[in-house]
Amino acid sequence: MKRKPRVPMVPLALLFLLCQTTARAAPKHLDIYFIDVEGGAATLIVSPTGESLLIDSGFPGDRDAGRIAHVALEVAGLKQIDHCIVTHWHRDHVGGIAPLARLIRIKNYYDHRLPQAIAADMQAELIEAYKQTTQGKSVTLRAGDELKLRRSRSSLRPLNIRVLAAGGMVIGEQSSAPQVRPCGSDFEAKPEDKTDNTNSVAILLTFGRFRFFDGGDLMWNIENRLACPKNLVGAVDVYQVDHHGSDVSNNPTFVRAISPRVAIINDGPRKGGEARTFSTLKSLKGIEAVYQLHRNVRTSDKDNTMSGYIANEAEACQGNFIKLSVDSSGRSYTVSIPAKQISRSYRVR
Ligand SMILES: [Zn+2]
Repeated sequence: MKRKPRVPMVPLALLFLLCQTTARAAPKHLDIYFIDVEGGAATLIVSPTGESLLIDSGFPGDRDAGRIAHVALEVAGLKQIDHCIVTHWHRDHVGGIAPLARLIRIKNYYDHRLPQAIAADMQAELIEAYKQTTQGKSVTLRAGDELKLRRSRSSLRPLNIRVLAAGGMVIGEQSSAPQVRPCGSDFEAKPEDKTDNTNSVAILLTFGRFRFFDGGDLMWNIENRLACPKNLVGAVDVYQVDHHGSDVSNNPTFVRAISPRVAIINDGPRKGGEARTFSTLKSLKGIEAVYQLHRNVRTSDKDNTMSGYIANEAEACQGNFIKLSVDSSGRSYTVSIPAKQISRSYRVR
């Protein structure tokens, strides 16, 4: 009887070393983490060179700062956050800045401008904490600005982050532009929004052909100005659904104009993720998936995406995040919910 030839054994340590070397040599992904801050916002972008940008910092207190620091330090392996944009001054966006800065170094801060006076929808102590943390060195962003990130010598794909709206102005507008500007055949105005949501910093990230839009809590009327008379955003691959999926935002004219393939709602169990927004997203031609950080427990199953696309189903949750990873060519991307071991790939449009 013939014996099977023996497969030469590679010592485990050598195998480990080989894998390490291969991993280091491979071109890096662009990663975007949608961190669960239960109805606030915290989106962490890590470029292929390891440079990082955090957009918003969740609510005040230790919970959200802890979750962001965990993802940044332990999951993404960062040593610091290089850039941090606070889209606007509401507590679910600026609240985590001071506690977060105690857990991880944040190098550069950006916002739509420090308020001259504390409005009714702002909290003086949070603005003060932001001023103290940034030591008055935050940069004001205006529509049209670009955030320059390092490009690696080996990376062929340019990575750009462009501000499309900030301080209530959209790119190309004069500062005297009115908030409500009738435009479009199905134009529907909402009452003028007096909150700071309208001032949100909205960015478009492009990496190769991949396009991602994060508009903070932009409201209905300003969304219309981004879509009409000219579509200033263009079609995107991934849309971080405005204002946690609220239906006072997510003007169908705007959502149809940007026509995302994948939508990610940073909602809470009882905040955002509203039925009307979900229906607008589902009605889009070409939509492939809608993800939610939370099941909306106030509505039924038909107004929520399928279970496999929800990071946190129970109201008492573990704070599961959603991770998006764009391959180094910028041609395809994967959306995963690591805690549920779910992962799906999509082609860039
Ligand atoms: Zn918000």
